[in-house]
Amino acid sequence: DPTPEQRRQADEARAHAAHARSLRGRPGALKDGTPLPLLANVGKPEDADSALEYGAEGVGLFRTEFLFIGNEQPPSVEEQTEAYTRLLSRFPGRKVVIRMLDAGADKPLPFLTPEDEPNPALGLRGLRTLRVHHQVLEDQLEALARADAATEADLWVMAPMVADEHEAAYFVRLGKEKGLKKVGAMAEVPSIALVADKVAEVADFVSIGTNDLTQYTLAADRTLGSVANYQTAWHPAVLRAIKLIADAGNAHGMPVGVCGEAAADPDLAVVLAGLGVNSLSMTPVALDDVRAELLSHTIEEAREKAKAALDGEFYHPAW
Ligand code: PEP
Ligand code: MG
Repeated sequence: DPTPEQRRQADEARAHAAHARSLRGRPGALKDGTPLPLLANVGKPEDADSALEYGAEGVGLFRTEFLFIGNEQPPSVEEQTEAYTRLLSRFPGRKVVIRMLDAGADKPLPFLTPEDEPNPALGLRGLRTLRVHHQVLEDQLEALARADAATEADLWVMAPMVADEHEAAYFVRLGKEKGLKKVGAMAEVPSIALVADKVAEVADFVSIGTNDLTQYTLAADRTLGSVANYQTAWHPAVLRAIKLIADAGNAHGMPVGVCGEAAADPDLAVVLAGLGVNSLSMTPVALDDVRAELLSHTIEEAREKAKAALDGEFYHPAW
């Protein structure tokens, strides 16, 4: 028994969704034509189906943990090569960003993650884990290089939890030694934002993981309900960190993308465009709404909105 107002709202939402659906297949861009490629976050090779269905222009984040979780030892090079080849072969000529294993903290793996860490989010995770378990790192890079050689996709490879230019340079060197063409870093630890100009000198690209960047900027565990209020990339401190990275990237000609949940919020996507981010990657079902919202703002309007957001205009603390 909906009220007339509820009916009106439902009709409006349906019309909005139909309009957004009709734009599927168009490349991501703002109203004035400024391009902003829209990519998909995927967790296993079969997710390529929904990425393509929703009109993703490629993959901006392939989380490789699925190959490792539930096993008692790392998957073989052959097993990994097969999985990466399966994904890459779905995107000939298109960009596919694969993230190295992010073990630790909210993604613990019994055979890699220490059990006695008092603060796992501040312990061994991401690239830190891979450095300790060097063979796992080597094997994953080897599998990626083999899959790259066997397919036509434009493969980009990145490491999670890179803290600074030294860690970025370490990982880039290993990736290049394997023959990978584009090797970059995820920006999730706030320190990387503070030295972003240095990182831009050594990395081919940076992808901002706003889930972790928010967690660490605000020192609030992303898995803890009691501090969930802090987990918002609308916080001006997070947006300012993103701006530092985008500015450094644009000054050095280094692509900067966003692949955290923030990219899936249509209003925030406009702000990210205004901050100078070069691509957005999100869960495929979010692509329609983000594409439609971007198309209703010019880059100038997005920059104005970003300015207001940096000033805290859209951030409403919960107390
Ligand atoms: C992030 O931290 O924003 C991210 C994309 O990585 P994950 O959510 O897998 O930690
Ligand atoms: Mg992360």
